[in-house]
This record gives sequence, structure tokens and C-alpha cells, in this order.
Amino acid sequence: MGKIILEYLDGNRIYVCTKCHIHLSNYESRISKNFRGGTGQAFLFDYGINYHVGVPEDKDLMTGKHTVQDLICNGCNQVIGWKYIKAHRESEKYKEGKIIIERHYIKRIKWN
Ligand SMILES: [Zn+2]
Repeated sequence: MGKIILEYLDGNRIYVCTKCHIHLSNYESRISKNFRGGTGQAFLFDYGINYHVGVPEDKDLMTGKHTVQDLICNGCNQVIGWKYIKAHRESEKYKEGKIIIERHYIKRIKWN
């Protein structure tokens, strides 16, 4: 709690946390809009900042077994999505190391 925000992103379309407005990712890092989380639509990003992760857990998702970690906003400590550590199916390997943020927890803003 109360961490000083040091990181900002390049680009002029930035995704920020709806609750604390910290920068989380940008338009250039968004890979897909076709994911679903607990609150509905979710985005897959290649890269993000100002988050930390929870303990790794194995989950059975629609696309098979994955090892994931909760993705937690540094600004407000809310769980906003998850990070893929390992995908057990070959077809899902592209997700490894990437992050999901649920649309409910982010909004896109113009920056600069
Ligand atoms: Zn936040």
C-alpha cells in the first residue's frame, strides 16, 4: 500500500486502473480482446507495468490446464486479472508470460 508510482508508459492510448488510475498497459501491447474473466470481457496483453502477482495456481480453464497467478494492481491492491505462467496444451503456449486484465478494471485514456 502507498507505493510511489514511478512508471509511466509510452504511447498515447494508455490503459489505466478504473479505481486508482495507475498506468497498467497500452494499446500497442494489447494482443486480443477475445478473452473472458469473472466480470466478463478481458484483454490479453503482451506487457504491463505497476502490478504484482500472487502465488502460482493450476486452473482448469476452457482451453485446458494452465498455471496462473493473480494479477494485482500496485495502486489499489485489487485483483484485476491474471498472468499465464504455463500452458499445458501446445496450442496455448503463446499465452505464457502474458497477462490478462479484465475490462471491468481498466479504461483507456488519451495520454499526451
Ligand atoms: Zn488500481
